[in-house]
Amino acid sequence: MKRSFEEECENDDLAERIALSCYNQYNLLSSRGKPSSNEWTHLAGFVGVEDDNNIRVLSIGTGTKCLGGEKDERGTQGCLLHDSHAEVIARRSLMKFFYEEILNENNSILIKQEKNKFYLNKSIRLYLFVSYPPCGSAAYLSDPIKRPKFEHKSLNSSGEELYLKPGKGYATTSLSCTNKINRWIYQGIEGTLLNQFIISPINLTSLIIQTNTNLSSIFKNISVKSVNKPFEYDPSSERIRPCPMSIAWWSGLDISSSVITVDGHSLGQIRKLRHKQQYASPIAKCSLFKLYLQLMENLSSTTITYAEAKALSSNSLRNQFILNNPQWTTTDPNIFYSFTLTST
Ligand SMILES: [Zn+2]
Repeated sequence: MKRSFEEECENDDLAERIALSCYNQYNLLSSRGKPSSNEWTHLAGFVGVEDDNNIRVLSIGTGTKCLGGEKDERGTQGCLLHDSHAEVIARRSLMKFFYEEILNENNSILIKQEKNKFYLNKSIRLYLFVSYPPCGSAAYLSDPIKRPKFEHKSLNSSGEELYLKPGKGYATTSLSCTNKINRWIYQGIEGTLLNQFIISPINLTSLIIQTNTNLSSIFKNISVKSVNKPFEYDPSSERIRPCPMSIAWWSGLDISSSVITVDGHSLGQIRKLRHKQQYASPIAKCSLFKLYLQLMENLSSTTITYAEAKALSSNSLRNQFILNNPQWTTTDPNIFYSFTLTST
């Protein structure tokens, strides 16, 4: 049904307020990890909006970098963040927030139905805001000149182009943010492990993107709102280099304690500790896996592998997605998902 003019205006206003709420939350965070005067970065945020349109920022992510696909670079213990683009950091931070809600049983967003079974508060709508068109198809539609030549490209079953993220002069094995967001829209935002505690997949209500381009043809299964609210740290004639650092923050974390990573590990981490799980970022695979195992009391936390835990998911949409998209990932689960938890 076509919406009335009044409803459209109301939604535009809400989209702008969501963008500003994300910028305001970012500005509240400590200066650690923020760009210097000649650096730019991207920002993404997940936002919960209540029935009365009260806005609550649930997580924030910044970042522009991605590790290469080699074993030596990525490590095999789930300690490093392979993909540090803003959307991915914001989503990992959202998952950390969800785990804390479940573990603390002091829930405002995830409501307990029974032991280890939760659902999204029915009075909350969930939005993803991004301060720029996500990399891959959305970015190329917005600015065709930026289309790099070396990226692998193929089509998935719904005719969507798959792009790999660029690395330092080569294509990595991480899919573009456009592809990842479309997957989240299809199967739910919560991921394979967290899904085991969620009654039905958590869906986004809408995407809000700072751009002049209509991106509805790229994100076909969700409403997309474009807003014109420039981010202070957008690329410009002064801001010419991407900031190498990423900031992660989630609701409940003190604003002075945002998590800073560079090259997938905590800022300042000495080399020999980078592959030790107890020193990993709180949003790294191994750290979220630890929270999962705290909840799964019946599993042996020292013998089950990350891959085995993922296989316990019964999300039929996820299984369908994997069947339909055999080319989706080039990450080898036998190398990168076969770790167990070594820290307790
Ligand atoms: Zn990206």
